[in-house]
Parts: sequence; C-alpha cells; structure tokens
Amino acid sequence: MFDKILIANRGEIACRVIETARSMGVKTVAVYSDADRASKHVVMADEAFHIGHGPAPADSYLLGDEIIAIAKQSGAKAIHPGYGFLSENPDFVDAVETAGLVFIGPSADAIRKMGLKDAAKVLMEKAGVPVVPGYHGSNQDTDHLWGAADAIGYPVLIKAVAGGGGKGMRLVERSEDFTDALASAQGEATTSFGNADVLIEKYIQQPRHIEIQVFGDGTHAVHLFERDCSLQRRHQKVIEEAPAPGMTQEMRDAMGQAGVRAAEAIGYKGAGTVEFIVDGTNGLRADGFWFMEMNTRLQVEHPVSELITGVDLVEWQLRVAAGETLPAQQGELSITGHAFEARLYAEDVPKGFLPATGTLTHLHFPAGCRADSGVRAGDTISPWYDPMISKVIVHGPTREIALSRLSQALEGTEVGGTVTNLAFLGALAAHAGFAKGDVDTGLIARDLDALVAAPEVKPHHRAAAAMQALDLVEATWDTGFTLWADLHRSVHLMHQDEIFEAMVEVDGPDRQIWTIGEDQIVANRIGGRWDLGGHSLPTLSQAGARITVYDDYGLVFDVIDPLDRDASAGGDLNVIEAPMPGLVKAVFAKPGDAVKEGDRLAILEAMKMEHSLLAARDGVVAEVLATDGDQVEAGAALVRLEED
Ligand code: ADP
Repeated sequence: MFDKILIANRGEIACRVIETARSMGVKTVAVYSDADRASKHVVMADEAFHIGHGPAPADSYLLGDEIIAIAKQSGAKAIHPGYGFLSENPDFVDAVETAGLVFIGPSADAIRKMGLKDAAKVLMEKAGVPVVPGYHGSNQDTDHLWGAADAIGYPVLIKAVAGGGGKGMRLVERSEDFTDALASAQGEATTSFGNADVLIEKYIQQPRHIEIQVFGDGTHAVHLFERDCSLQRRHQKVIEEAPAPGMTQEMRDAMGQAGVRAAEAIGYKGAGTVEFIVDGTNGLRADGFWFMEMNTRLQVEHPVSELITGVDLVEWQLRVAAGETLPAQQGELSITGHAFEARLYAEDVPKGFLPATGTLTHLHFPAGCRADSGVRAGDTISPWYDPMISKVIVHGPTREIALSRLSQALEGTEVGGTVTNLAFLGALAAHAGFAKGDVDTGLIARDLDALVAAPEVKPHHRAAAAMQALDLVEATWDTGFTLWADLHRSVHLMHQDEIFEAMVEVDGPDRQIWTIGEDQIVANRIGGRWDLGGHSLPTLSQAGARITVYDDYGLVFDVIDPLDRDASAGGDLNVIEAPMPGLVKAVFAKPGDAVKEGDRLAILEAMKMEHSLLAARDGVVAEVLATDGDQVEAGAALVRLEED
C-alpha cells in the first residue's frame, strides 16, 4: 500500500478520500487554492500545499503539472483525483505516470475510449451492451443528420458527442424543428467543448436514469448493483437512491452484466459508473435499458452504493491502484436495505435555484445520517466552486424506512448564514409519487410549483426572528434590562422580499408581548425556555444582519435599517449586474453601442447553465466592466449605460 497519497481536489470529496486513507494508515497531502487556505480538507490532511495563482479552477485545481510537482516534492506515491477537475483528463493521467506516480483511477486509454459519446456507443455495441437506438456516425452533414432523425422517428434527442452536464443537448419533437435545434446544439457544443459534433438518439419517454456501479482491476470487473438517479432538475441529479425502486432480479442481472461487459471491454481499473436510460412506461423490463455513457471516476452519489453493500469504494480504489486484485468476487457482494442521498446546496430556490454564497454561521446535522461535507460552521461558500454544503445520506432496512429517515435527517439539518435548497429536498422526500417509487426524470419539472412553494412563515417565526434581532432571547434583569428607558421597541425585518415591522412591549425578563401586523404573540419564559403563543422558541442563529430560524428547514430573515430602504429599492436600470456568482462567458456590448431594452448584453455561466443578461432599458453603453472569462460575484456590475 502507498504510504502517502496526494488528493488533487477540494471540498467534500477531498475530505471523504482523506478519511478513508487515514483509516488505512495512508498519509495524505492536500492542495489548496487562494480561496481555500483554511478549508476543512486542508486542516484534515497531514500536509497541505498552496497551488496556483488565483481561486478559479483554471488557475488552481486544474494545474496538473504543478500538482504533480507537489506530489513529487512531498513524497506522495499516488494521486487521487476525486471527481470533476482532472479526474477524467487522460493527458493528466499520462503526465502522472510519466512522472513515475500512480493515478488512482483508470488508464488514460480507458478514459479516452469513453470520452466521446459516439465512439463509446460504437464500442459498447461491439461489446454487446444495448445502446439507445440512433445515429452516432461521423457524417455531420445537416441533411444527413436530419434524415437520420426522420428515420429514427420523433421525438429525438440531439447530443454533443463531447457533451457533459446536459450541455449541447436538444429535444426535438417535430421534423420541421430539427435544423434550428441542431444549429443551437452545435453552437453550444462549440462554445462549451470546442467540438461541434453531435449524435442523434431516440428520446425515451418517461425515462428513468439507472446506473451501475462497476469496479475493475484492469482485467476483471464486478458490479455493485444499481443506483436510481431519476430525480433530476434540468438533467442535474437531486436525490439518488439504491437499489432502484421496482427493480426485478432479472433486470438487475442483465444490467449488472452489461455494466461488467462495458468495464471489461476497456480494461477498466478502479471505480466507474455505467449510465443507462430506462423506459419507465411499463415497469422495469430486462430488455428496456440502454447505455448512455460511462463516467470513468468515482461519482458524487457513490455513498448510497456503499451503504447497501458495506463496501468502502475509496478503500477499494486505493487497494487496486496499489496493485491488488479485486477485493471481492461478484458472488460475495449483496444488497442490504435501502439508501438515499440528497444534495444540499447553497441555493435560492424561489429565485430559480440561483447559486448562493455566504459564511455558514451555523451547521448541524442530526444523528442517524451520514453527512459528507467539505465545510464546517464558520466556512464560506465562495462563488468559485460548486455551492454544495453537504450530501445527506441515510440507510434503512426497507425503502419506506430509509425514506422516512431521509425526511427526518433533512428536518433536523440546520444551516445558518446562507439560503439553501433544504425545504425543496424536504418537499421531495415527502412527495407522494416518490414515496410510491413512481420516479422518472420528469417528476420534478411536473410538480415544480408545489415542490418550491415556500413554507408558510407563521407569526411565532417572525416573533422569534425579532427577539433575536433585538437581543431579547437571553435577556435578564442583570444584563441591563432595568437600564432601558423605553420598554417599547420595534424592528424591521425582511423575509423573502417582504418587509414587516415587529413591535414589542417588554414586560419583565420572562414576558414579552409582540405585535406584528394583525398578530399578537405573547412570549413567556417558563423554566428557562421561551414559549411563543404555544410554540417553543426554535433554535436561532445570526450572522451580521441575517437571522435564521431553524424551523421548516430554516427560515431566513434580514434585519432592515429603515433608513437604508429607499436606496436599495427600485433597482438601478443603468447597470447590468451579475444576478449570481458565475463565469462571464461572453460580453456583446461595446462602449458607445446603442442598445434596446431586452437586448442581450452578456452571458453568465453559473451552476452549469448559461444565463442571458439583458438591457433593462433603451440606451447607450457607457462602460463595459467585465470581459470573457472573468469570474464575478453576485451583484458585480458588468455593463453600465449612459445616464438618461
Ligand atoms: P450529459 O453527459 O450531458 O450529462 P447524458 O447523456 O448523461 O448527458 O444525459 C443526461 C440526462 O438526459 C439523463 O440523465 C437523462 O435524464 C436525459 N437523457 C439522456 N438521453 C436520453 C434519451 N435518449 N431519452 C430521454 N432522456 C435522455
């Protein structure tokens, strides 16, 4: 076994790898960018080295040569790439091996073979793995592709061969829409991947995304059963589970064998995932699944497979990379119980799932769940990386019990200092169709309105936030109560863009009478605990002007200074701002340009999606404050128009 490894990653996956390495007696070396100097993974590792010249991935975690040099310098014998960043970059694998180090993962050749969706499909067909019917040849002529789509029959899906993260993908319902959709998919594929080639696939109705966890030692492979990742929002996974609801033994065997054939066909080494699309219209059938792609790395959702099999996949990765054969044979692997994973993000769900930033003033996970997290209370979710706070993972003897444990775990999770998608995850965990196992990739979109409905804020929540704002929770006579001349006080608070005033009459240290709009709430302290009109005071935390009330998945209130209000209201039509942290993909405006209201002035990429930023009025561009490739924070001014 290696005595020391370097982890070329950050966040939860770096922490996850360090934990297993430590349990195996393997020392760890972390690398960190400017933004991550004091991160959890840096503190956890035995040694840590600063890399790069800026926080952006291209200036830090993607600098393969620098990372290899640090591995050599620190005496690490192998590099674990985590997921994302350099994990599926075959040139990096070559460079690691040329430097005399071990890459903990597959060979460069295996990664290359699965790198392009069209070549992978050809290879899989040859290996006897079912692939989605469609055209994946080299003729990229528009008429030829159009003819192929007509022959397949609509609806069809156009996919960029170099695609990932749902980019360069277009659904086409009718032949007459094909050429427009093709041009737009090719355009996105060119900007995102530098490769305009596409393939055409039959669009599977009511699809389910079921993937097989495989593990190879370079010659032989086994599978660790399936995960169902059908709960997706815009092709991004939200909640994953294992095993798949409704799975039959016959189909599991067929899918598992297909996964193993796929892995063995490319001499796969390490942990990998073979993704299949499944036709969910008539239940699961052994002939109703087709290969989509193989991810040649450990996946975000690997813990659900670990919990049902009892295997530590990172331990297996290290052992096989160190030269061992497969740690278990297929017959030794079995499924126990059911597991779920929910991805907890700093996101503003009511504002269209905008990624959020912020310093976590408070972070608590309840007992009974596995929380794989790369942050601690006090850490900052920065605009530079994916805004994941944690993965909340549970296991139970049956799906029903595991799901209620998921609900409980989400209800007991407390995050302060930023908005999160916790309420959305909680609503999903309570969704009746999901509970029945009726899942397909369209579930979230169909029920989105109900799933994102903000929890109703009740008078006692408002009173609790106001108590915190006026520092009346811990109040006693000794803390200066009697010094107050005026025991009538008030505060303005904002919750989801709505501002309200809370007024209080303090009637001694243990009694307060709150008036908020039409509501009156009497707060009484009995035996040291506050009761607010029949509700006990929830846990509270405060960071600057932001207060979180830990009920209904965390309700966020901002203390408003009434004098500041007018300045911030109304919005400035002269300035086009970044609505969220992200990467400036393109700026179309030049100083002096005349623009019309609604003209697209820039494109911002955030959360793997592109957002057009439009002119709010007719005018003339005075100044352009950002260029392509800039990483910007929420609220950054990008383009300014001349004053009217
Ligand atoms: P990417 O690599 O961009 O993530 P994938 O090929 O993995 O793209 O597909 C992403 C998602 O798109 C899948 O999880 C599934 O929800 C949907 N999808 C892909 N192919 C099809 C298809 N042929 N029919 C229906 N849905 C599909």
